Amino acid sequence: MEATVVKHTGSHYLLTVLPEWNLFPAVLRGKIRQKGSTATNPVAVGDRVLFSMPEGAEGEAVCATPENPAAITEVLPRRNYIIRRSTNLSRQSHIIAANVDMAFIIVTIDFPEVKLPFLDRLLVTCEVYGVPVTVVLNKSDLYGPEYSQRVEAFHNIYEGAGYPVTDVSAVSGEGIDGLREACKGRVCLFSGVSGVGKSSLIKALDPSLGPRTGEISMSHLQGKHTTTFYEMYRLASGGYIIDTPGIRGFGLVDLDKDEIALYFPEMLRVSGDCRFTPCTHTHEPGCAVKAAVEAGTISYERYSSYVGMLEEEQKYR
Ligand code: GDP
Ligand code: ZN
Repeated sequence: MEATVVKHTGSHYLLTVLPEWNLFPAVLRGKIRQKGSTATNPVAVGDRVLFSMPEGAEGEAVCATPENPAAITEVLPRRNYIIRRSTNLSRQSHIIAANVDMAFIIVTIDFPEVKLPFLDRLLVTCEVYGVPVTVVLNKSDLYGPEYSQRVEAFHNIYEGAGYPVTDVSAVSGEGIDGLREACKGRVCLFSGVSGVGKSSLIKALDPSLGPRTGEISMSHLQGKHTTTFYEMYRLASGGYIIDTPGIRGFGLVDLDKDEIALYFPEMLRVSGDCRFTPCTHTHEPGCAVKAAVEAGTISYERYSSYVGMLEEEQKYR
């Protein structure tokens, strides 16, 4: 039988047979590794897996319980996945989520102030893994007239790069219906630094969901040293959310110097016109990307993030 992984805590997993939400516990049976994967977790939230139900004393099929869990026997091929690496130098990686339909990156102009280079790293990560992104600008209720320039500039930078930007407020309710609509029928990754209002937005989308109130308490399953990783929630209005608390390191992907520009969509669009191939879009004459930055069709902020990523990449080589 096939199921989807909803939560992973220590050696235990919570599965459901979508579109049902019939959560039941499971463990891994035997060694399960995806070919070539260096991930510390062979099975991630969002993975589709094959499983067998536990057997009772007489060999009959019984309901899975924490004491007698189902057994995951195989991980089905992933459509995509998002990885987290502890540092650029680290070989080890952790799969945050698999089979994601789209990502919502939540930011705020202020409280906390959005760090564009960090946002751009997250966007590059999503491009690398082929996950469509919407940038969600939360706390719109706070942005009075004194913010209008910064809000407009933010829209221009990211819409200009090709990303939808949607203004929402978990407090006033602005944009929440649209967000709920966008989640319908999809598995959506929610990410953003702490304080941007991720938990508040999830609650606004579905008041029955508090990211700390899972349907089944797994606390009795947790060993002493386990951490709770990522978790999938079902929205009453349809669709699923994977919450990603603590996304430090999320933005780190292993890219070669000349690959980075491929994941800035607005640069990729013009780089065919650069005089040299490959072109790092820094010192080369006849560079179409630099020309676009000068003409204002590629934003200076995005270009700066790109150069920052290039320099960082060089530092580690
Ligand atoms: P998280 O760390 O991203 O999960 O953020 P929280 O949901 O815990 O929110 C952080 C703080 O921002 C809390 O004090 C929330 O009340 C506040 N907050 C969240 N969303 C909004 C919003 O849309 N407008 C305003 N004014 N405050 C918000
Ligand atoms: Zn160039």
